[in-house]
Amino acid sequence: MDFSKYKKGTTAVWGGEDHLSTNGAVTTPIVNSVAFAYHDLEEWHQVSLGKSEGYIYSRNTNPTVHALEQKIMLLECAEHATSFSTGMAAISNTLFTFLTSGKRVVSLKDTYGGTSKIFLDFLPKYNVAVTLCDTTNHEELEKEIAKGCDLVYLETPTNPTLKVVDIKRLSDAAHKVGAIVVVDNTFATPINQNPLQLGADLVLHSATKFLCGHSDAMGGLLAGKKELVNKVYQFREINGASLQADPAYMIARGMKTLDLRIERQNSSALNIAQFLIAHPKVKDVYYPGLATHPGHEIAKSQMRGFGGMMSFALNGDYDQVRKLLTNLKLVHLAASLGSVSTLAGPPRTTSHVELTKEQRAQLGIPESLIRYSVGIESVDDLLTDLEDALKLL
Ligand SMILES: *Cc1c(COP(=O)(O)O)cnc(C)c1O
Repeated sequence: MDFSKYKKGTTAVWGGEDHLSTNGAVTTPIVNSVAFAYHDLEEWHQVSLGKSEGYIYSRNTNPTVHALEQKIMLLECAEHATSFSTGMAAISNTLFTFLTSGKRVVSLKDTYGGTSKIFLDFLPKYNVAVTLCDTTNHEELEKEIAKGCDLVYLETPTNPTLKVVDIKRLSDAAHKVGAIVVVDNTFATPINQNPLQLGADLVLHSATKFLCGHSDAMGGLLAGKKELVNKVYQFREINGASLQADPAYMIARGMKTLDLRIERQNSSALNIAQFLIAHPKVKDVYYPGLATHPGHEIAKSQMRGFGGMMSFALNGDYDQVRKLLTNLKLVHLAASLGSVSTLAGPPRTTSHVELTKEQRAQLGIPESLIRYSVGIESVDDLLTDLEDALKLL
């Protein structure tokens, strides 16, 4: 099928699945086979050399997993894609493929907690130079990139304060010094943002979040230039952080409703952000869809929607956070995000659990902050729930 003529909602449903039909099955078959047999030794050999299409062993890829890889490839308008057991496996495999001893990476202070740990604790041990810049300081980022580097790693919008960075501007800076650009697109999803079309070389996802969408499977996905994706794939197939057929099915199934869910989450989140910003007990709302958000103009230029993630700070201290969260009825107080149900929590138990109070303050994360991942519930019910709980403060 030629997907270039279809919109995202169609590609999300049909993408990657058209070659799979087994006895006319109308959904992706779950192929739980470790190995794939051949009658013809010559054909087996050609497939194992990568000269013919086919499957050998599920640590490399597998028909169900391949369908998912094709789906993200099409949604991110990429040449190629591969998959991983978790989002962190996608990130660590990508970083460790390109950042060998003596290389330098430039990134942001606000990356996902696990990614930040790779930058601060692991890469330096392998003699990789790491420079983390103030996330929204584009001049500083450009200056550090221009000094020479091998990889520029971006995430936008960021966790938990929804900072926005200019993918095109920083990709241009990176390409001037021959660096490759990797973007974590987990928060935006390919429905709202396509980093490759803005100049990035690779885009990755924690498929555990919005792509799966139901908090019931973990996975990671990487898409981009074929030559680069293949390098990461060759590292992953040997270190073994491969995705299994069952979660691949769950994620592909979730992705069929991605466009629907994101459309709803974009609209509910904007609605809720506007309600909260006008509320006297709320000090600040961090949502890139608000005209008052410092990254709003960049967000408008590179995103089609502003996503289902937001944070807000209360007028008050952590006691107020505890009170509000335990008074909300339509949230799971849980880590993770991007699910059909609304999830919320403070950074001290979610994104920035590893940091001290002082370190969080340094990153501009107030103790009265609440991260709120808007689900697909009816927005009126979410608004009432917030209003009732705020009243009790
Ligand atoms: C959750 C998350 C990850 C890590 O993904 P896992 O599937 O939990 O390993 C990476 N980046 C972002 C932005 C995330 O939210």
